[in-house]
Amino acid sequence: MKIAGHHFKEGNYNLNNLEIKQKIDENNAIIESLFTPNFFTLNNTIAKLLKENEMLQAQCQHSFSNGYCDYCYKQEEK
Ligand SMILES: [Zn+2]
Repeated sequence: MKIAGHHFKEGNYNLNNLEIKQKIDENNAIIESLFTPNFFTLNNTIAKLLKENEMLQAQCQHSFSNGYCDYCYKQEEK
């Protein structure tokens, strides 16, 4: 009877470098396909929020202390 860990290790030994590279490339492609859409969604969300902040800063009645607005964090112009 084989121990699962030993069997797994034995299986890995049967892969040559090219097969290992192919497997890693395959896994990376899957990781990329899963990660990229979320990354773009995140980017879009961040861009939207930054744009919203800009619009809020434009409407803000600034009250500066220590060079930044207390409300919208806009830097005081000198
Ligand atoms: Zn402000």
